[in-house]
Amino acid sequence: MADLVISEDFFQDKEPSGKTSHGDGENFHWIWPVNTGKNGAAFSDDEVKAAYADRGEEQVPLGVHGTTVAVDWDSCIAAGSCMSVCPVQTFQWYRTEQDVAATAVVDATFEGTGLTEQDERLDKTDKSMPIREHDCTVCMACQEACPTGAILIEQANAEFHEKAAGTYVKMEGSGNPHAHD
Ligand code: SF4
Repeated sequence: MADLVISEDFFQDKEPSGKTSHGDGENFHWIWPVNTGKNGAAFSDDEVKAAYADRGEEQVPLGVHGTTVAVDWDSCIAAGSCMSVCPVQTFQWYRTEQDVAATAVVDATFEGTGLTEQDERLDKTDKSMPIREHDCTVCMACQEACPTGAILIEQANAEFHEKAAGTYVKMEGSGNPHAHD
């Protein structure tokens, strides 16, 4: 198992930088500030870098997506190991539902219709989105399978999901989310 890149107390002093909603109108997952950033494995992976170059899309730090199922998108190299082991399809390839820059998933709604098999990624710029975080059975298989240690499964972090739900507001008009006390 690779060393984990998200520390268990990552959320302790953080506030979300955004969220992605599920089209069921109830569920959503938070996006948290940059963790590994440009030190993440995605920034040194030749296939990921080539995929961004092919698209003519700039590779920028994306932060951590999810709280109890937390995926460091800057360490996600689109290996898809999590997809192949998850028994409840927590993850989807986000681009297979909406082929947009990863920065555009902030405060967007996804229906959960994206593809969920390991090799169904659109290309190596795709990321594993924990769109069904709420369905996770805490089997830990994805955390153990991820080749870059990009996933942290920690049910205790549910308190940070709940706390943020009480304090997070989207700034009117700006499109830039922030959180306050
Ligand atoms: S811990 Fe198990 S159920 Fe939860 S997201 Fe990972 S593989 Fe899926």
